[in-house]
Amino acid sequence: MTPIQALQKYFGYNEFRHQQEAIIQHVLNGQDVLTLMPTGGGKSLCYQLPAVLMNGLTIVISPLIALMKDQVDSLNVNGIPAAFLNSSQSPNEQQRITDQLKNNQIKLLYLAPERLFGSGSNLINFLKSLPVCLIAIDEAHCISHWGHDFRPEYLMLAGLKNEFPKIPVIALTATADKLTRKDILEKLDLHNPAGFISSFNRANITYRVLPKKNSFNQLLAFLEERKEDSGIIYCLSRKSTEALAADLKEEGFSAEAYHAGMENADKARNQEAFLRDEVKIIVATIAFGMGINKSNVRYVVHVDLPKNIEGYYQETGRAGRDGLPSDALLLYSYGDASKLQRFARVEGNEEQSAIMLKKLDDMVKYSQLQTCRRQYLMQYFDEAFPDNCGSCDICLSEYEKFDATLIAQKALSAVARVKERFGSTYVIDFLRGSKNEKIKQEHKQLKTYGIGADISKADWHGYLRELVTLGYLTVTDDAYPVLKLTAKSDAVLKGLQKVELIASQTIEEKQAEVIPYEAGLLNELKLTRRDIAINENVPAYIILSDAALMEMATYLPQTLDELRLISGFGDVKLARYGREFLIPVKNYATKHGLSSRMKQKSPKRERKQRADRTTTSGRGADTRLETFTLFRTGKKVAEIAAERGLSPMTIENHLSYFIQRGEIDIAELVKEEKIPIIKDAVESYGHERLAPLKEVLGDDYSYGEIRAVIGWMNKAV
Ligand code: ADP
Ligand code: ZN
Repeated sequence: MTPIQALQKYFGYNEFRHQQEAIIQHVLNGQDVLTLMPTGGGKSLCYQLPAVLMNGLTIVISPLIALMKDQVDSLNVNGIPAAFLNSSQSPNEQQRITDQLKNNQIKLLYLAPERLFGSGSNLINFLKSLPVCLIAIDEAHCISHWGHDFRPEYLMLAGLKNEFPKIPVIALTATADKLTRKDILEKLDLHNPAGFISSFNRANITYRVLPKKNSFNQLLAFLEERKEDSGIIYCLSRKSTEALAADLKEEGFSAEAYHAGMENADKARNQEAFLRDEVKIIVATIAFGMGINKSNVRYVVHVDLPKNIEGYYQETGRAGRDGLPSDALLLYSYGDASKLQRFARVEGNEEQSAIMLKKLDDMVKYSQLQTCRRQYLMQYFDEAFPDNCGSCDICLSEYEKFDATLIAQKALSAVARVKERFGSTYVIDFLRGSKNEKIKQEHKQLKTYGIGADISKADWHGYLRELVTLGYLTVTDDAYPVLKLTAKSDAVLKGLQKVELIASQTIEEKQAEVIPYEAGLLNELKLTRRDIAINENVPAYIILSDAALMEMATYLPQTLDELRLISGFGDVKLARYGREFLIPVKNYATKHGLSSRMKQKSPKRERKQRADRTTTSGRGADTRLETFTLFRTGKKVAEIAAERGLSPMTIENHLSYFIQRGEIDIAELVKEEKIPIIKDAVESYGHERLAPLKEVLGDDYSYGEIRAVIGWMNKAV
């Protein structure tokens, strides 16, 4: 099988991304490789696909348990046998995996470095007895002190090449500057490694910055248009994450907080709920995110200024891993910047303080840009990006510039007349001739007092900001920031220098032409996916990405053969879940007199929501209640499914909810004699995954019955 065939068969994708193909070819040739690819670029595939094609076992070193579980779930859902060994597992579980390894039943084994090399571990010797064919080191920057996330346990990997001298190693990371790269190669002792560095541009993310005014209202306006989407909101302090999450809940949003000071159980619960789309918004400190693989995060908001571009870029990079259009919004205020400046000073370490202040300054510059933001970001990371991107707020806006020399002169002379001792609020009040008693009596006598009364406060704030950005004014970084003149001010005041500013009204352009998708159907597909995910006990995005659902809601595939062309449907997924997904598509098409649009499908086109024809079905509680009401009229599962245009599995899931709440008696859904047998199976095998239970119980027992009994057992506890 060729790599491209394997890509289609096992992963359901049509084409390689970035340099995946070349990387995979090198790995298959037995060469060592170092791969740099941005978050969401598709690093995992670079070792997963060779693992499938090669004979033997691929060992994957990964730092976080949560990440391993995610990856293993994804592989298993695609029918690729993978497992992890870590401290969270019972001895029985570990034994089972060891047995499978001995029988060559596993293609990929995920491990933490300390597990492999930890003292007293004889795992390494066991692994050496197996036909290991490839070693992948994920998050490879963790091995370097120069990286931003050094992990001492990664240093143990220095012994890897001694233990497995002939086995090719692929090291992967999303962030590593030159120094870190060199360090990785040296520490891992890679042989004649091929390096692959992909562009770090995340083309599907639109970057926006808004001057922070009333941040909560600004946030609400932003979220209002994204009610159904998942997003992360980053705050600086732990306290504000909790307060903001509470406020958002009050406004009817589904939001939870996450920060390092919370109880582990609470953190795990909120994270899990977010991964499973049960909670739409996580309000977090930067403690949240590392190892979060959720692909359908549609937006990342920073309500406070990040400390540096590196952190900001990594955090925003958590949006849109599935490649669909996503947003990064930053609310910027000068106050935040000066607050951070105070934090950035490290007592007694001038050198480090200087570095941190410089990084903060670059972040502030980004926030005040009047040129393409993406270009700035790329240049920051030493990547040439010659053109305007066309998809940041600056590029999307049509700015009208006008001759503002007079305005600039008024502003600068005001600053001069108040002796460069006041902040912008005071200067603006002074310019506008405010009667406020805070304005000093002596200032009210000046000729300049009130010369800017024709311009609104908000506009003045904008102009002053721009004058600062253009370098005609500066702001001190004191507790009370003060406006000062600069070396460039004089020429303006003397009329030797013209100044152009941006008109206060800017118009945002229309987005590009796109194919509409059926929003009502998309909701139904999400429900189907959720139900399957519940049955498999994995987060929904592991079953299929939002991108795949979106394709279905756009092109309306009517048969399994058509469904195969939807991105993400490999052979196994198609066989396992294909029929389940076709039900809502076909029902929807029939109901609205539509047919397949697969002929129009060409890869990589964006889609836009079709505003009309949305259906009301969908929202969790109501849809369950509707099923329950029909059930109470005496209808059978199949009848309710047909009537509601949902799959029987969905209906069964609805009903088991009411069993758990004690509103339906278990005997109404499962024959008496079956109950103890299912209960028995659940007690011996656990209820984490339904598929193995079904396997044990056989064809006489349906998923619906198993779920019903689990619901009933949960109720009893
Ligand atoms: P990274 O580890 O680089 O952050 P992942 O390996 O998690 O990224 O991949 C991000 C997403 O892109 C995953 O959902 C993955 O399945 C998907 N993906 C990877 N390669 C391709 C491809 N060639 N075509 C379409 N989707 C892909
Ligand atoms: Zn741009």
